Amino acid sequence: MMETCSHCGQSYEPKRSNSRYCSTKCRVAHHRAKQQTAALVVACAVCGKEFEAGRAGALYCSPSCKGKAYRARRLEWQRRFFGRRPGGK
Ligand SMILES: [Zn+2]
Ligand SMILES: [Zn+2]
Repeated sequence: MMETCSHCGQSYEPKRSNSRYCSTKCRVAHHRAKQQTAALVVACAVCGKEFEAGRAGALYCSPSCKGKAYRARRLEWQRRFFGRRPGGK
């Protein structure tokens, strides 16, 4: 009986009844793809909400959080530039 590979969708004849992939290569590739997807779910650096990052290195869940982070960073730069420290020390 023919089975359909869970990774590449090709029909193949399984050597074992519980196999889901046409080859070891497909089995490994499928698991790797799943791991990569999981790694792309990251917590927003501003609000902490988990979101799916469209690309590696994305830090914020939304443009509004990105804007907040940008403004916070700019305030921090201004504080350093004027030599003031938070807390008034
Ligand atoms: Zn396959
Ligand atoms: Zn956010």
